[in-house]
Amino acid sequence: MPSIAELVPEHIRAFEAYTPSRPDPDLMRQYGVDHLHRLNNNENALGPPPNARAVIEAFESRRSAIYPSGDCYTLRTALSERFGKDPERFLVGNGSCEVIASVIKAFCEKGDNIITADKTFAVYEWVAEFSGFEARLIPLNNWAFDPDAMLAAMDSRTKILFVCNPNNPTGTWWDRDVMERFLRGVAGRAIVVIDEAYCEYVDDERFPDGMELMERHKNVVVFRTFSKMYALAGLRVGYVCGQKEVVDYIRRTHIVYSVNSMGQPAAAAALKDDAGHIAATRLMVAEAKALLLPAFDELGLKYVSNAGNFVMVETPVSDSLIYRHLMRRGIMVRTMTGFRFPNWIRVSMVQLPVMQEFLQALREVLGIVAGTRT
Ligand SMILES: *Cc1c(COP(=O)(O)O)cnc(C)c1O
Repeated sequence: MPSIAELVPEHIRAFEAYTPSRPDPDLMRQYGVDHLHRLNNNENALGPPPNARAVIEAFESRRSAIYPSGDCYTLRTALSERFGKDPERFLVGNGSCEVIASVIKAFCEKGDNIITADKTFAVYEWVAEFSGFEARLIPLNNWAFDPDAMLAAMDSRTKILFVCNPNNPTGTWWDRDVMERFLRGVAGRAIVVIDEAYCEYVDDERFPDGMELMERHKNVVVFRTFSKMYALAGLRVGYVCGQKEVVDYIRRTHIVYSVNSMGQPAAAAALKDDAGHIAATRLMVAEAKALLLPAFDELGLKYVSNAGNFVMVETPVSDSLIYRHLMRRGIMVRTMTGFRFPNWIRVSMVQLPVMQEFLQALREVLGIVAGTRT
């Protein structure tokens, strides 16, 4: 009898699955703590905006028996009104992670490749690889995506370039000029995905709005998500927007009914009253950075802080050791070795009391690892 492994394509055999963190109660038991501050996933600690909250609280359990809108009709209408584009130009997924897969399925066939950075959101690379496509990973230049090197890596089999703007985890972003020059260089030869998961955190007029770029560059599609600024990560809603022709092709590969009945109206409601929420979240992030960055300087820690609700910090010893020590103090950060930043951690920016707790814990941990107990 043949083995199961013989049934498996080589690119799946070679692929290593991602291991998600265990549930909080398990982790709290393991580390002997009675609380856990999650600073590992760039979630918005303020929670969803008031209108979205009201929708979630009013959700009636009997609606669970009924399938949701298969194409997120009402949410797409809300997006259409918000961005002044035809509803057919939006395709909503179970988080933007799902639409990454839909775009790759729509454009890539055997022998094709995608191009992105070596140190960015890893899902582009993972989906390409477990789908059997080459991911060309271009090194960051000065913590940022390198437009010229990405263009130089293109060939006739390049179908998609993924640009994370601002980049997770470095927070760097291309301004309008760099983006325009890059898009002129691509010259329509491939799809350009601009992942704007953190765009609502940027308050700078030089930041290029992908929603506007796609009107002049027909090969541009934009990813946005309700997981970060809108604090609906648990409901899994993200979307792609582009020219109708492009989105029509992507829709062919996209799972219908993948966005649940609570997520759809919560996301639509979140869009309706977001100004105060965005301002409050930006303020929270600014205050957190104002506390932490001088403290990192004082501790002699190197860090990378640009746009977004996160900061990367270099650790003097292994990031997993720092992680375990912080966990024993009820603080969960993201280790970055697996993301090609050996001995760095990424920390989400949340309310000041928690940031103070993190800083206190970090000081203690650094004291311990330096052998000088504080
Ligand atoms: C968090 C994040 C996403 C969001 O993924 P969802 O599936 O929508 O939760 C997308 N892109 C980047 C760069 C992210 O950091």
